[in-house]
Amino acid sequence: MRKKLIAGNWKMNNDLNSSIELAKSISTGIKKDFLNNTDILICPTFISISKVFDSVKGSGVSVGAQNMHFKDDGAFTGEISAEMLISAGCEYVILGHSERRQLFHETNHLINLKLKKALKSGLIPILCVGETLEQREEGIHEKIVDEQITFCLKEISKVEISKVVIAYEPVWAIGTGKTASPEQANQMHNNIRNSIANLYGNDFAQNIRILYGGSVNDKNASELFSQPDIDGGLIGGASLKPNQFLTIIENASK
Ligand code: PEP
Repeated sequence: MRKKLIAGNWKMNNDLNSSIELAKSISTGIKKDFLNNTDILICPTFISISKVFDSVKGSGVSVGAQNMHFKDDGAFTGEISAEMLISAGCEYVILGHSERRQLFHETNHLINLKLKKALKSGLIPILCVGETLEQREEGIHEKIVDEQITFCLKEISKVEISKVVIAYEPVWAIGTGKTASPEQANQMHNNIRNSIANLYGNDFAQNIRILYGGSVNDKNASELFSQPDIDGGLIGGASLKPNQFLTIIENASK
């Protein structure tokens, strides 16, 4: 059985002190039985990772980053490497978020390089995929997501794929308050699982975790997470509100 994962993407929010405060509110609000069938992750900004890691130690909450470079080190001003993230306490890294794709022009090729590096270094990558509103209206959303999966996973081995988490995040649902319906989301998750089955076989497809992201909140979480192919969520706005985030986690753990 796939263990659920609830991941909070804090984006460019919270300074160091408020990040520590938020992390503590979340970690102290977690009930033991939440952790039986749900992994919990928070992804602060780079400068807060180390202190946030210290502040949640022993609580069962993992820490991740929102991005990284694919090179080991060198003259890449403003960038950060997988090893640096690991040394600060990261277990996970979000890759290919639609904000990275749209605002920072990240391509499937670049995301593939990052994914390979993350896996080689021992980080668990959360690979984000999802279509724009125009692509959905054109009826090419399934093709777009299949292409993102195929290109981003190029040359990723069977051993490595079992460590990858995928997040389906329709761009039109991110930060907009418009959620995909549970059926729409589950349909796409099912397609993604089929794409993984075509690439790696059905056993791998059944084991891979596929998260939904896009305006998940404490009201809609329960219905989304009860869908058979939805294995948790990548949560933006609601992950900044401890009570909402804890309710979302509670819903996933039921
Ligand atoms: C996200 O940024 O990954 C996200 C899903 O944001 P929100 O929950 O705010 O839509």
